[in-house]
Amino acid sequence: MQTANRRIEVLEGDITKLAVDAIVNAANNSLLGGGGVDGAIHRAAGPELLAECRNLGGCATGAAKATRGYRLPAPWVIHTVGPVWTGGARGEPVLLASCYRECLLLARELGLRRIAFPAISCGVYGYPLELASNIAVRELLAHFAGETTLEQVNLVAFSPEVAQAYRRALVETADQSAG
Ligand code: ADP
Repeated sequence: MQTANRRIEVLEGDITKLAVDAIVNAANNSLLGGGGVDGAIHRAAGPELLAECRNLGGCATGAAKATRGYRLPAPWVIHTVGPVWTGGARGEPVLLASCYRECLLLARELGLRRIAFPAISCGVYGYPLELASNIAVRELLAHFAGETTLEQVNLVAFSPEVAQAYRRALVETADQSAG
C-alpha cells in the first residue's frame, strides 16, 4: 500500500465529535445551514457559526470557505458545496473532485495537520456512493503526492455502507498503484 494511503483513515461515526484541526461541512450554496451533516454541524457549533456564515456571501458549487468551529472540538470548519447528482452528465464528477481539492488546498493554506470529510453529496444530493468514494480517494492521493501540511485525513462514514465504499475505494486504488 502507498505511503499516502496510510495517511487516509476511514472512521465510522459522527463528524461533529472529532477533535481534528478541521471538519468539512457538506453545505448548500447559501451556507446558512440545512439538513444532514450541515444541520448537525450547525447544532453542535452553536449560533456563532451561522453568524459567521452570514458574512460569507454563500459559496459556489465545487468551492470551499473556512470558518471557526466555535463549540465544536475542531477549531475550523471548511464548508464546501457538492453537486446535486442528476445522472452524471452535468459536470458532477468534476465538481465533486473540486470540492475535495479546494478543501485540501484551504487546509494547507491554514497549515492544518488533520482534517475529516463527510461523504460530500452522498446524502440528500444523491451522488452514487461508489463513484463518490473513488473521487474522494483519488483526490486525497493526488494531494498527498504534492507538498502539504496535512498528516492525516479521516473519511467519516455515518453508516457501515459508506465505510465499506471507502474501504473498497482505498483497496482498489492501492491495487492499481501496485500493478
Ligand atoms: P449532501 O447534501 O451533500 O448529500 P448530506 O448531509 O445529506 O449532504 O449527506 C452527506 C453524508 O453525510 C451522508 O453520507 C450522511 O449520511 C452523512 N452524515 C449525516 N450526518 C452526519 C454526521 N453527523 N457525521 C458524519 N456524516 C454525517
